[in-house]
Parts: sequence; C-alpha cells; structure tokens
Amino acid sequence: MRIGNVKVQLDRDGNRTFNKAGMHDFLGRFVRILSDAYNFNFDLEGRIHRIDGFPSPHSWDWLQRTMANDWIYYDKVWTHGGIPHPASIIGDAAWAVNGRTDLPMLAGHKGLDRDYVAKAFVAFDALIGDIRDWLRDRPAVHSESGTETASAMDANRLWDFLAKAAKHDREHLQQVADKLHSIHGHMRVLPPDTIHVDYRVILVKVMDGCVNDCGFCVARGEAPFALRSKSDIDRQIDALPEIYGSDLCNYNAVVFGECDALASPLLEYAARRSFDAFRCGASFHLGSSLFFFSTNKTLCEAPDSTFDMLDALPFENVYVNIGWEAATDAALARLGKRQTAAEVTAGMKKAGEINRKRRKVKISGNFIIAEELHSGDIIHAIRDTRYCGQLYLSPLRGACSGRKALNDLHDIRRVNTDVTVHLYTMQRM
Ligand code: SF4
Repeated sequence: MRIGNVKVQLDRDGNRTFNKAGMHDFLGRFVRILSDAYNFNFDLEGRIHRIDGFPSPHSWDWLQRTMANDWIYYDKVWTHGGIPHPASIIGDAAWAVNGRTDLPMLAGHKGLDRDYVAKAFVAFDALIGDIRDWLRDRPAVHSESGTETASAMDANRLWDFLAKAAKHDREHLQQVADKLHSIHGHMRVLPPDTIHVDYRVILVKVMDGCVNDCGFCVARGEAPFALRSKSDIDRQIDALPEIYGSDLCNYNAVVFGECDALASPLLEYAARRSFDAFRCGASFHLGSSLFFFSTNKTLCEAPDSTFDMLDALPFENVYVNIGWEAATDAALARLGKRQTAAEVTAGMKKAGEINRKRRKVKISGNFIIAEELHSGDIIHAIRDTRYCGQLYLSPLRGACSGRKALNDLHDIRRVNTDVTVHLYTMQRM
C-alpha cells in the first residue's frame, strides 16, 4: 500500500534458512516501509529491525538491530588489505561489525561511525514522526501502484501495524531492551555457533557466571557462579513471549546462559519448556536450535546419559561450545586459564567421539590465537585426539594481527578435513 510517496509492504517473507549468501538476504517475516532511498524492515511488533539503502559503494551494506537494542553494521564486501570473503573466514556471507569485539581484519572499519549511518538514523526518526502524523490525520491509503484506493480491510491492517510502529521510537526501543534485560540479565558473549541463526536467539539463564577466572576473559558476567532455580527459569520463560509478541514466529533458537549451562540439573526441564513456550517447532524458520556453553570440566564429567538426554530434546540441533583456549600447559598458563593440557586433550577426545556418534548434539571448541601462541600446538592436539567437528579461533585483543589470524586459520584447516575452523565473531544479548 501507499501513503503519499511512502510504500508499506505487509506480509513480506524472507529467507527461512538464515542464508545471506544470495541476492535475497532478508531473513524471516517482516514489514517493509520504503521511504526516500531507504528500506526500513520492521519486525511484526512494529520494531525497526533492519535499514538498507546506503549510497554506493556501500549499497550492499545494512544496519541491523538486535532485541537487546544493539545496532550492528553488516558488510558483505569489506576486503581491506585483500582479505578473503567473510564466508571463508567466519562462516557467514556478511561481516557483523559491532565496534566492540570485532576481528583484527576489521581494524579500520568505521562500522556505525559513518555519516551515511547517522543520516539513516535521522531518516528513521523522521519516518516515526510521519507515521504519528498519519495516524492523527488519516490520509488516503492507495494500492502500491497508487492508482486505486486500498480496501477498508487492507487499510485497517495497515493502520494497526502503523500504530505499533509509531510507539517504537528509539527511546521506546531501549525501554523494550531494558525490560528484556530485567527478565534475564545480559549475556556478554553469545556462543559462536549462534552465527548459524544470525544471532537471532531467545535467552534463558539457567545459571550465572563461571567457575573460572581466565585472564583474557570477555565472556564472564558480573554475577558470581550460581545455578538458577526452577521457579526462576519458569519466571523467565513465562515472561519472554509477551515481549517478543507476534514476532516470536521469527525465532527458532534458544540460548542458555551463562558460561556453563551444562552444569545445570534443570537443563532438560528448561529446554523442553522453552521449546514449547517459544513455539520453536512452529517458527517461520526451518529447523530449531539450542545453544549453550559448557566448561571442559563439566563436559568431561558428564555421563553418557546427559548426551542421551540432549539427543532426545525436541530441538533439531543442540550446540555445546567449550573453551579449550590452548593446548599446552605453557600456553594455558600464559593465558591465565586454570586448566591443564591433559584436561584439554581429554575434552577434545570426548567431544570428537560425541560428534562422530551423536545425531543432534554438536560440540564445538574455542582456541585463543595470538602472535606469541603457536598454531602447531592446536594442530598437534587435533591429531593426537582425533578431534572432529567445529573449532572457533578467537584472536586475542591487541595481540593478534589479521595476517596471523588468517595464517593460523589456514594452517589448522589443512590438518584434517573432519575439522571445520572459523574465526569467532562475538555478539552479545
Ligand atoms: S572459562 Fe570462559 S567464561 Fe569462564 S572465565 Fe574462562 S574464558 Fe571466561
């Protein structure tokens, strides 16, 4: 439909598999408003989700907002210094630049700090102002071509949606994020596998904090280690659907916080309740996924029955991410990680066996890379343990160049075709 020069497209269907590699890289169900040069994509509750329409040569880029009200700059063509396409480095077709935890090869990327980004935000603010004026003045609504008057039914649907969008100016969007955080708190780093769903996850905390205190940690929250009770898990799961509202259909994935969810005796309970309450099986997106971190110690101590339980969950995929970080005692000590190389090897061996044997449980692992750390140690551990599965490399902040990160990535990749390796792109909730 059309109001003046502005077009509103209700009922837009994007990609259902989170694939951003094609020309058609819009994901999920959304409502689009085309105004001046911009495409404003709103979620089904009228909250801005994505803004496209930057001037050339940035016309492939876009801005995307999370439910935690973080704006992320998506860039498909950043090739500064001749770095390869992001798909071969991070496993996705676009760099998600957040300005906080970006990879070293994104050094110099201005992200949100660009004139045309500021202009897009101004255009969004102006659009919300226009929508409020329309709701007051009720101008004529026409078909998209502008030749016919829209039916009363279509016009009513349009006004209903615009009434939702009008509420969600930037201040109100922050209030929604604050309410969300008042339910479950923050999660400083999402598990790396959440890149498979473009970080579109619903968070439930089954525990807080971490038993470790690694020197390099950017993931541990403020709270001390503690397991959440059944009633607290229920409280979160009961409160979240109201915030997501009709946009719940755009979510098929849940992340359990915080750093050692496998330690929670209520994991199965929380997983089954989340799957039902968030209707993960009825999502617009294909499949369904559960993501969480575990410490290596918890992984090693977990009996087979734990993985039987995970394999029997209603989610199609269960991703567990382990922080191995380094493969020698010297490197672990240098990083301040209270873990021995023997423990890392035991964890990698167990993870490889699970990945070979299990249907839906997938264990992935993280290693830190830095100028002073040798990728050969990781290669040796992979060979020694016959690890197979996904690994993520995290360049140590300020201590790893983009070139070193790429070299380590390629060296480790050459070892074993059963191991997939990418760099970790850290996002938060
Ligand atoms: S185990 Fe992970 S979350 Fe815990 S302190 Fe170490 S790096 Fe941080």
